[in-house]
Amino acid sequence: MNSAYVWIVLTSLFSSLFFLTILALLCFFTCRLASKWQFSFGRSFGKAWTGGMIKMKVTAALFISFSCLACTILSKPNFPEKEKQPSYWNKWAQRTLEEALDLQELNKNIAKNLILFLGDGMGVTTVTAARILKGQLSGETGEESQLEMDRFPHVALSKTYNTDAQVADSAGTATAYLCGVKANEGTVGVSAAAVRSQCNTTFGNEVTSILKWAKDAGKSVGIVTTTRVNHATPSAAYAHCVDRNWYSDGEMPSEAQAAGCKDIALQLFENIPEIDVIMGGGRKYMFPQNTSDVEYPREHKHSGTRKDGRNLVEEWKIRMAHKKGQYVWNRKDLLSLNTNNVDHLLGLFEPGDLPYHLERNKEMDPSLTEMVEVAISILRKNAEGFYLLVEGGRIDHGHHEGKAKQALHETVEMDRAIHLTGQMTSMHNTLTVVTADHSHVVSFGGYTPRGNSIFGLAPRLSDVDQKPFTSILYGNGPGYKLTNGVRENISTVDYYQNNYQAQAAVPLQYETHGGEDVAVFSRGPMAHLLHGVQEQNYIPHVMAYAACIGQNKNHCPAALNHAPTLAPPILLAFLILIGLLC
Ligand SMILES: [Zn+2]
Repeated sequence: MNSAYVWIVLTSLFSSLFFLTILALLCFFTCRLASKWQFSFGRSFGKAWTGGMIKMKVTAALFISFSCLACTILSKPNFPEKEKQPSYWNKWAQRTLEEALDLQELNKNIAKNLILFLGDGMGVTTVTAARILKGQLSGETGEESQLEMDRFPHVALSKTYNTDAQVADSAGTATAYLCGVKANEGTVGVSAAAVRSQCNTTFGNEVTSILKWAKDAGKSVGIVTTTRVNHATPSAAYAHCVDRNWYSDGEMPSEAQAAGCKDIALQLFENIPEIDVIMGGGRKYMFPQNTSDVEYPREHKHSGTRKDGRNLVEEWKIRMAHKKGQYVWNRKDLLSLNTNNVDHLLGLFEPGDLPYHLERNKEMDPSLTEMVEVAISILRKNAEGFYLLVEGGRIDHGHHEGKAKQALHETVEMDRAIHLTGQMTSMHNTLTVVTADHSHVVSFGGYTPRGNSIFGLAPRLSDVDQKPFTSILYGNGPGYKLTNGVRENISTVDYYQNNYQAQAAVPLQYETHGGEDVAVFSRGPMAHLLHGVQEQNYIPHVMAYAACIGQNKNHCPAALNHAPTLAPPILLAFLILIGLLC
């Protein structure tokens, strides 16, 4: 076992035990010797002296050996022993160098499959902290651990700003990394010429996404998310809407409806009518108002929201009845599907967003990894390949609520899904990209020692208010708390619990996004084109280029590009030749 982390935990436990043992033994022997001396001194000085000496020697020997053992344990560094050897680091670096040299032979294959993993709000701080958490969950110190995304050979930075916002939101950014065009915050699938919430600015400003480009090229396409399927990130893949909050017509102003704008749920089924796989939450937006929810029939807040009386799920089921379509709403039904017999899947597992991974109902709610496994099993049946958008959507929500533990566990779960994807596809024909839409104002620091729990305290008290502080803190958010006018002393608070809200510098009900660049990890055909510091809207252009879909196909092999136009003359010449020979 990679046991440095275990050492740290066990060291404190065993050292306390050893010290107690030593103290107990010392007391025991001293008392026994003292009483023996007292008892025997008068009778036989010489005999008692000899026996006392022997016992004192034994006591001293025991004391020394226990002290040595305790010192050995206490002086054990809180990192693996092998890291003391320069050879360890040199070998590691040389191995990495060999791998880097191999990358000089670029993968210029045509990507049959495209997968985009989008960690909503997964800034670089979140990635590093999730890596440490992943390592610590498997008993390591954590820092040396590797996320699956860390193993991707190519990395770029993406500038996330919206056309009208320095610190971006998830809607304008989704338009960038899905449609290839930067846009205004709050809008999906429309250019920056469209104005947020102004319905009449939609028309003529629609932009299409790589999901549509892939569908038009004959690929299967899918969307998997832990949020509502009509939330900001997925909706830019299929909808054109000037307001990300128009989830159903129940959330739209009547003027917008009168002006011809459509809600996002409706657009999910109408714009690209056969999205092959749709999985996530958002059930209530698909059912008529007051229709009780199948899972929470007594809770009115989960009832249908549609004012137009349409049942979009039922309509979908009818449309897909003869196309091997399946609708599921719970984990059991999802996992019992035989994907060989399913070509279209609609899975809506909650009325709103799916629960946090740490809190999901394991009977009813599938994990992100489980959803991705089913999605790829269905999509990969298409010989033309597929495009899949996977969103770890609740990383963002965890941070907004100041709940770093939730956010980091969401990230680790998305990383599990990335690992699974690597096992189900080949990097020779599948371009996988992992990125975020924007960051958050979360930080971790405080000169913590190696192997410190990622949710733990910094080793020293504040030298200003003399109180402890956690390594993870927020720049703003709901974790701001004063007790009697001063910063809360968290020594009596359980900062390891799932919903602990880390302290924040500025009070806000919801913590905000962060404005710095986010990472783009890529693996597979043309992954090397995702390099350097780029505008976020560059991402789908590279993905489309790699797959020979969309607007730039100049590099695609002539055989692939011109096969349909060359085929008739070749066929004609062949037929003439046959005719002549006959
Ligand atoms: Zn957000």
